[in-house]
Amino acid sequence: MYPLIVAFHKIIPDTYIQHPYFWNALCTPYTNFVSFIESLYQENFAFIGLHELEYAMMNPKEHTVLLTFDDGYYNNILCAYPFLKSEKIPFVMALNGKCIETRTWQWFDRIWYEGIRTQRNIEQTIAQIQTFKYDIPALEKWLYIHPNPESKTETERIFFDMASVEELKVLQNVSFVSHTYSHYILTALSQNGLEKELSQNRDFFSKNNLKSENGYFILPNGTKKDFNSQTTNFLIKMGTEYIFSMLPYTHDMHILARYTPTQPTWQKEKKRYTWQRLIHKWLY
Ligand SMILES: [Zn+2]
Repeated sequence: MYPLIVAFHKIIPDTYIQHPYFWNALCTPYTNFVSFIESLYQENFAFIGLHELEYAMMNPKEHTVLLTFDDGYYNNILCAYPFLKSEKIPFVMALNGKCIETRTWQWFDRIWYEGIRTQRNIEQTIAQIQTFKYDIPALEKWLYIHPNPESKTETERIFFDMASVEELKVLQNVSFVSHTYSHYILTALSQNGLEKELSQNRDFFSKNNLKSENGYFILPNGTKKDFNSQTTNFLIKMGTEYIFSMLPYTHDMHILARYTPTQPTWQKEKKRYTWQRLIHKWLY
């Protein structure tokens, strides 16, 4: 069986789910996260690291799962890491150098927060994020006008900063993978822009002596509209062997399917959580 690859974003304390800083589409409350891992244990999944992925793909005899965490959120260390460390579960972290170097939030988190702060309608805020995904000049103009929110407390500290780079270096069982420098959507970039996004992030890793796995790349967003044959051919030319998407089903040998159990909603009529459906669909 093909390895199950799971994409998480923020793992947050259960009580923070209502906190305006946290866009709930990207958040998994800690208790749900632990239950998800327990469900995987119950179904006899073996947790693999990035270096075992290729072998697992070639030898799909047992149930294997690879955990990935996108976007460089500090709460991955604060909330998820102690549990993963105690369980000796390896995982992958996708980093964007820009947020870390410039101490800024991811652009979509900034728009989300601004929407909450100004009490805009949530649908409008999400529509604005969607528009900016594919219009980088408009996005950059918006970012220039709107100041980056200040994280005042540990609760609100949601991104890695330069001080965190030292913390990242000593983590065990973690592989780091590039996720572009600015988290711009690949199909919205010119060829030059794309090259710049990749090389700036490579420089970020090497400047900080942070080992990145150059054969792998995690697409920003990674749905159908967010990459095309031109962008993947370019990545392959640059030495990428495996590209993590956000598509649950794909049969391209270079594009890996990923699942996002961020919304662990309880399905009343089926008496199960959505992630249990995910595992079930995977197995049967
Ligand atoms: Zn991302």
